[in-house]
Amino acid sequence: MELLNIKKLDLAGKKVFIRCDFNVPMDEFGNISDDRRIRSAISTIHYCLDQNCAVILASHLGRPKGEVVEKYSLAPVARRLQHLLKRDVTLAKDVVGEDAMSKAAALKDGEVLLLENLRFEAGETKNDPVLAKTLASMAEFYVNDAFGVSHRAHASVEGITHFFDNEHKAAGFLLDREINFFGKLINSPVRPFAAIVGGSKVSGKLEALVNLLPKVDKIFIGGGMAFTFLKQMGYNIGASLVEDDLLQEAQSIMDESKKLGVKLYLPVDVVAAEKFAEDAVSKIVTAQEIPSGWMGLDIGPATVRLYREGLNDVQTVLWNGPMGVYEMDKFARGSSKIAHFVADSYATTVVGGGDTADLVQRVGVDDEMSFISTGGGASLELLEGKILPGVKPLMVEKSKEES
Ligand code: AMP
Repeated sequence: MELLNIKKLDLAGKKVFIRCDFNVPMDEFGNISDDRRIRSAISTIHYCLDQNCAVILASHLGRPKGEVVEKYSLAPVARRLQHLLKRDVTLAKDVVGEDAMSKAAALKDGEVLLLENLRFEAGETKNDPVLAKTLASMAEFYVNDAFGVSHRAHASVEGITHFFDNEHKAAGFLLDREINFFGKLINSPVRPFAAIVGGSKVSGKLEALVNLLPKVDKIFIGGGMAFTFLKQMGYNIGASLVEDDLLQEAQSIMDESKKLGVKLYLPVDVVAAEKFAEDAVSKIVTAQEIPSGWMGLDIGPATVRLYREGLNDVQTVLWNGPMGVYEMDKFARGSSKIAHFVADSYATTVVGGGDTADLVQRVGVDDEMSFISTGGGASLELLEGKILPGVKPLMVEKSKEES
């Protein structure tokens, strides 16, 4: 199977609808703090503009839940796009309302229109066929370049594909690169292959953990999710984040890794704090001695040394999820030290997930990584071996001359 290729579309002088993932993090002042996802979509947009297309861009931002919420407007994205593309970008006032429809209809070759946040429409996340059809009616071609949301069967990702035949839809360059990269990573990783998994919750990554187990040689667990494992091991974890309903799952993961011979690493010490705040009193304690009422907010220095030791001989590293509350300087050291170590290694290093991408950028080692994926959830689902709902309609049998 292969993805429908944008270069095979006869785009010249036509209208093209590009589903992008401009779901970028914002700081407390409403500024875009990491525009990687916008920059990653530029090649596809440029390609279409070079074909003299009229380009309609669409994306979601945050979770406005089907209502117009001012703080989730794509206005800052339109400004950044304008800057990066060095040409005017018109922002429609709505998604499929009067303003968007009339602006899309009047769009001329070489012009760029950005629709308002797709999730201002309740039908987007419900994969509503009426919304999908209306979005599809704006253009002659559909291109999906939104890897980060391709694991969601949403109207602009999945539903819309049904209104275009194979000569009128394709994957953009970003989507293509991500899918091919993860395909190689799953099918033929250079071993030893290690996964570093962190972040807040086991629940979000449980299935991926289960599916990664048979594929990797080592797993390093950090972040809030480590405490569910530590609690299951009988440790007093104080007031640390825990998911009590997943204790049994944590046990099965530990049992399964033993059975498969996968080396599972858990923190041996943590930076514990009296409260979840930058100015909290904090101290380094062993995993066995977290005081009652205190919460572990970062891995400690002994864990960093242990993880470095374990990562030493690894040839491929997949990293998803920070080792601690990296947004607060006080609890960012564990993540930062692991980031530097991974970046300096000669291994193929793959970073998945918005938070982890943000983290390596803050630490300043993003250029040293082999590959930074624009999609956390999507990359985890690929690693689970799933075909993503937004990708499936863009897959065809390999053409004979190429296979
Ligand atoms: P996720 O979205 O599940 O990848 O989680 C990322 C978030 O996990 C980040 O915002 C971190 O601040 C948070 N996090 C990491 N470690 C901890 C911890 N020990 N306790 C609470 N939150 C954490």
